[in-house]
Amino acid sequence: MSDERFILPGGVDARALPKVLLHDHLDGGLRPRTVVELAEEIGFELPERDPELLGRWFRESADSGSLTSYLSTFAVTVGVMQTAQALRRVAREAVVDLAEDGVIYAELRWAPEQHLGRGLDPDGAVRAVTEGIRQGIADARDAGRRIRVQQLLCGMRQGDRTAEIAELALRHQGAAPGQGGVCGFDLAGPEIGFPPSDHQDAFDLCAEEFFPVTVHAGEADGLDSIESALLDGRALRLGHGVRIADDIEVIAGAEDEVRAVLGPIAEWVKDRRIPLEVAPTSNLHSGGAGTLAEHPFDLLYELGFTVTVNTDNRLMSGTSTSLELTRLAAEFDYDLEDLAQFQYAAAEAAFLPSEDRDRLTDLIADGFDEARDE
Ligand SMILES: [Zn+2]
Repeated sequence: MSDERFILPGGVDARALPKVLLHDHLDGGLRPRTVVELAEEIGFELPERDPELLGRWFRESADSGSLTSYLSTFAVTVGVMQTAQALRRVAREAVVDLAEDGVIYAELRWAPEQHLGRGLDPDGAVRAVTEGIRQGIADARDAGRRIRVQQLLCGMRQGDRTAEIAELALRHQGAAPGQGGVCGFDLAGPEIGFPPSDHQDAFDLCAEEFFPVTVHAGEADGLDSIESALLDGRALRLGHGVRIADDIEVIAGAEDEVRAVLGPIAEWVKDRRIPLEVAPTSNLHSGGAGTLAEHPFDLLYELGFTVTVNTDNRLMSGTSTSLELTRLAAEFDYDLEDLAQFQYAAAEAAFLPSEDRDRLTDLIADGFDEARDE
């Protein structure tokens, strides 16, 4: 199936490359048709009832520059994900869609506290998503694709249930890595005004159990938020983290050479190789105006930061991991070596045992070798 949108400069189809996806929201990646069908089952009012028009409504609302209309898209997806059956279906389809896009390992994140409106209990909700992921992995295998998937549970930073969600995450840790269980905790929601330090109990619980943490930080808010994610949250990765650029002063260098002075936080993030879960298209949408050329992704990569490429919300951003790669390659002239680097970085940053991460690295190397030979 040839589709120009996925073809990289040089002719390789980005979907054929093995990819690792660390930052993808379950409630941001539904198929429009599924939203329509789930809404019908529970009598949920939609802004559009035709799947194609609804898909467009999601993309346009997300890209309107208005936070209110951006958030209204999640009111719809979360609104139709309030039963075990709905959660199971959405998780299952997400895994199938990712596998179809060539993703070999993914961490899907979601906030259980937002799915209890129709009587579901938190443990039941997590069990439903776990089952859905397992079904999706089996479906993908039947279609000849290998994918491993885990969950991250998000506590909402504007709420007061993060410690409870951290405990929930700990209770549902996967016994077999990559088979649907929970592998870490995330802090999500409106960043400005809700610093990680407000949720010390949740982070302490995770730390005491040596349970991995990532935090949305440096997406809407700046360096203080990143600092709090690292110090108070003990985050092993940063969700987006792109505002780390605020701590970098670029100075004019010779042609093709980036020279910069790094502040202490940027230096720490770079030198400790703290992975940045960057989602370029989503960043442009949530950040209002701006073009990919102005996004700090390339600057961070050139300076040696550990950057990974993510989708964030596939439905709202009209994207996939492969599309993010083709967009970046077209904008910044990346070749297969660059794209492989992003995958190695993501594999190394996965919340998996080191042996499993090494295995992912081998799969990436083999897949990119194959693509080069074709
Ligand atoms: Zn996110």
